[in-house]
Amino acid sequence: MQPALQTLLAAASFAAHKHRDQRRKGAEASPYINHPLAVANLLANEAGVEDVTTLVAALLHDTIEDTATTAEEIAARFGAEVAAVVMEVTDDKRLPKEERKRRQVDHAGALSHRAKLVKLADKICNLRDMAGAPPAGWPLERRREYFEWARQVVDRVRAVSPRLGALFDEAYTQRP
Ligand code: ZN
Repeated sequence: MQPALQTLLAAASFAAHKHRDQRRKGAEASPYINHPLAVANLLANEAGVEDVTTLVAALLHDTIEDTATTAEEIAARFGAEVAAVVMEVTDDKRLPKEERKRRQVDHAGALSHRAKLVKLADKICNLRDMAGAPPAGWPLERRREYFEWARQVVDRVRAVSPRLGALFDEAYTQRP
């Protein structure tokens, strides 16, 4: 089998294990792994991204932020390049939520090419989820604010891929 396919399956399996006890915020509370799979799938099959490092980073993009996974662990299994991209898209959870959101906007433009692709795909998937099955208990205003914030982040990275930019705009039309 091609090494790329083996690595992609290993990353999907690793992420599934790490996120095994988590559910998405949406009203359907779907298994968390659906999200990183959707992000990697969007990059590969809607945006035509073929770079394996980017796709593996997409599968792993929430493991450090949302599970006990460390950058060292990812580097040992998937290499330093993948670990670096995942770190770039990982928020510092020690900071208050508003500060983290502000930082995403401030830092987006300085991300690497690969991290920008993952960031864009992540935001597209989140808007699709938010429009399709919004988190229980999120009032209209909060959902609107989420769309606005996502747009601010994406406006700073969208030049990396016109195709992803167009997919974001399509998802944004579902703004509540
Ligand atoms: Zn994500």
